[in-house]
Amino acid sequence: MKPLNEEEKRIILQKGTETPFSGKYYRHQAAGRYLCRQCGAPLYRGEDKFNAGCGWPSFDAEIPGAVKRIPDPDGVRTEIVCARCGGHLGHLFEGEHLTAKNVRHCVNSLSLVFQPAGKEPADPKAETAIFAGGCFWGVEYLMKDFPGILNIEPGYTGGYVPHPTYEQVCSDMTGHAEAVRMVFDPQQVSYETLLKGFMEIHDPTQENAQGPDIGSQYRSEIFYTTEAQHQTALRIIDLLKSKGYAVVTRVTKAADFWPAEDYHHQYYERHGTQPYCHRRVKRF
Ligand SMILES: [Zn+2]
Repeated sequence: MKPLNEEEKRIILQKGTETPFSGKYYRHQAAGRYLCRQCGAPLYRGEDKFNAGCGWPSFDAEIPGAVKRIPDPDGVRTEIVCARCGGHLGHLFEGEHLTAKNVRHCVNSLSLVFQPAGKEPADPKAETAIFAGGCFWGVEYLMKDFPGILNIEPGYTGGYVPHPTYEQVCSDMTGHAEAVRMVFDPQQVSYETLLKGFMEIHDPTQENAQGPDIGSQYRSEIFYTTEAQHQTALRIIDLLKSKGYAVVTRVTKAADFWPAEDYHHQYYERHGTQPYCHRRVKRF
């Protein structure tokens, strides 16, 4: 997918709404699928689109699992986002009796890209990177601005307790590390670029600690999701060692990742503060 333009960013990242009757898909009817503009995930089928007269593309069903529902804080509406990248799509309305399914996904045209039937091959492959390097608030804060990051979220991985809580992980008894999972578009950013960035925003020579945070949950670890990532990780660590860094970063095949409680997401932006335990140090 191409990088988002300013108007697409306003809609998809900042949850904006396009002017009704202005989008290119509100009256569009054709055989095919509507993909997420940000990450390319297939979201809706052409046959589920109907004319609701509201000025935005409307669908009464999504491709199973493709769309996530999030109740608005006001409790009135339900936001819908791409389940893969979290990109804002629009809102969901029920009980309007417009179709037999009695549900309407009201979606911004700018959140969608139409893919005509018969032209499905280019399902752009998003990739996942998982890094642990101390407090996940700081890692998320410093990694989020790389280009091509489609979604980023803090969580717990590498241990053996399912559905861990923050308190359990902080007790250092779950085996989990605080980690950050990123879905990224390899056409916009390479894994190597992200990995080098990660090795510069935390100190990969600290064992089971990061800055003032002590404990195995703050260890430095790369969880690879492909064999190519594995090889890249080993190569970059060797490169750092050749520069004299006594790197202790572990390299481990990714397993279950448990997203952290909501209040850990975008922690520093929400609190208007800066990371205390992470800063960028040029190492490459
Ligand atoms: Zn998406």
